[in-house]
Amino acid sequence: MTSSTDLAVIGGGPGGYAAAFLAADLGMKVTLIDEAPDPGGVCLYRGCMPSKALLHVAKVLTEAREARAWGVDFAEPALDLDRLRGWKEGVVGRLTGGLGQLSTQRGVTFLRGRAELLGPTSLRVTRTADSAGPDGNDGPVDLTFAHAILATGSRPAVPKSLSLDSDRVWDSTRALDLPTIPASLLVVGGGYIGLELGSVYAALGSAVTVVEMTPGLLPGADRDLVSVVARRLGGICEAVMLGTTVVGLAEDGDGVRVTLKGDAVEQPERHFDRVLVAVGRVPNSEIPGLEYTAVKRDARGFVLVDGQRRTDEPTLFAVGDLVGEPMLAHKASHEARTAVEAIAGHKAGFEPAAIPAVVFTDPELAWCGLTESQAKAQGRTVQVTRFPWAASGRAMTLDRPAGVTKLIIDPESEQILGVGIAGSGAGELIAEGVVAIEMGATAADLRLCIHPHPTLSETVMEAAEVFFGQSTHVYRPKRAPRP
Ligand code: FAD
Ligand code: NAD
Repeated sequence: MTSSTDLAVIGGGPGGYAAAFLAADLGMKVTLIDEAPDPGGVCLYRGCMPSKALLHVAKVLTEAREARAWGVDFAEPALDLDRLRGWKEGVVGRLTGGLGQLSTQRGVTFLRGRAELLGPTSLRVTRTADSAGPDGNDGPVDLTFAHAILATGSRPAVPKSLSLDSDRVWDSTRALDLPTIPASLLVVGGGYIGLELGSVYAALGSAVTVVEMTPGLLPGADRDLVSVVARRLGGICEAVMLGTTVVGLAEDGDGVRVTLKGDAVEQPERHFDRVLVAVGRVPNSEIPGLEYTAVKRDARGFVLVDGQRRTDEPTLFAVGDLVGEPMLAHKASHEARTAVEAIAGHKAGFEPAAIPAVVFTDPELAWCGLTESQAKAQGRTVQVTRFPWAASGRAMTLDRPAGVTKLIIDPESEQILGVGIAGSGAGELIAEGVVAIEMGATAADLRLCIHPHPTLSETVMEAAEVFFGQSTHVYRPKRAPRP
């Protein structure tokens, strides 16, 4: 079967479906290709959404345990893994089904199968066994296109030292399946996935040990923010081992023998029931047929693109995890919309001043714009103000006084360059920081905007008040700059 389209989109994740939908809204004839039954990609099927559903359950379990201190005693929770799994899968099904409907409503042709490029303006889709079209045809489809957007995403990285073909060694996809709640779980990697899924299993009852090879958790984030999260994780995990690397895995009875290396390692050989490997992700850039195009990749395999997300092949654009970090769903979607605008001939460029990052642990950690450590590394003079959540009435009512909201401010212009928040609900609060940075807001702008009381959002306003030495709830007079 052969057909033609204005825009072919390979990959149905947040990059691919956002591109397909906007292109259809702009009047293009669009074909979206993915192996899954509906659009959604990693984010909806095996990433953002199932993990956040489970993190919600983890938070409820934690709060129920903590309620004892507030005079409310619940019985020990009884876990029904089948129902928990079913609920999480229901969330995924409703969301991906909704995207399928939105795709149909927009007139996007969704082709279920695997795409290979035949050249700069054509591709072939090989249907998966159960993905026959409405006509019952499950043969390959050849498609010619004016433009294509590559949005094939990423997959878990598996370094040689951590590759063991065993159902006791999990990647994030396997961990999200909730195969069992192991008595002991080793999490390799103290990044986003390790901490989020480690928290889930700790709340569900596993004794979780986190091993991180660098000296601190979440290497990209400011240390004062990380320490808020690390303190609490220290309380729910069996152990957090920093500066430690896993150098080998082997089957060991009904578990896994793990070899650890690091200055502080006292017992280099340990046994764990299960191991979750979460040491980063690599791009899916081995797209079959890419060699018939001028598309170039860097040493790590990321596809090289310009400011409009155009590759070295003029008809081909690339977005999302495929083109580099940060590997985040909202970054993928915004790049996708930029690429579509460029294809439509509009003036467009991907030039964000602030891409928010959120680690959905409890408490959450979020930041956007310039971090304090980046400013230091760049030798850039900034003023940093912090509002401690112990001074927030709302944080007290939630019994979550451990938290901090910080602003990174240009001392000359008083413009907000970065915002960092560690505390309950930080992921929701950070959006104000993004708007402030993108709008070029100053500390005075944030101070003068009336924030509702009592809310955690007041911590952003009060962090700006701290800059002027006039925060209502902390006494920190402004000092004259040192000569
Ligand atoms: P993907 O979502 O990876 O989609 C790519 C799609 O392309 C896949 O469906 C793949 O099967 C398909 N594909 C690949 N090759 C072909 C081919 N040849 N033919 C047809 N189809 C193909 N990000 C956040 O912002 N917030 C979060 O909370 C968050 N949580 C996460 C939790 C986990 C456990 C994981 C693993 C990731 C998480 N992420 C999160 C990251 C987020 O999932 C990715 O950044 C995002 O999915 C990238 O979108 P994408 O469109 O680039 O690619
Ligand atoms: P990551 O890059 O966030 O963290 C990996 C960690 O593993 C790093 O801290 C690294 O130093 C450590 N590491 C590497 N090799 C190691 C070894 N041999 N032993 C011990 N530690 C080792 O990667 P991830 O957690 O796998 O997540 C992948 C990406 O997915 C993230 O970078 C993020 O872009 C995305 N993601 C985002 C969210 C979110 O937005 N909330 C959630 C999950 C995933």
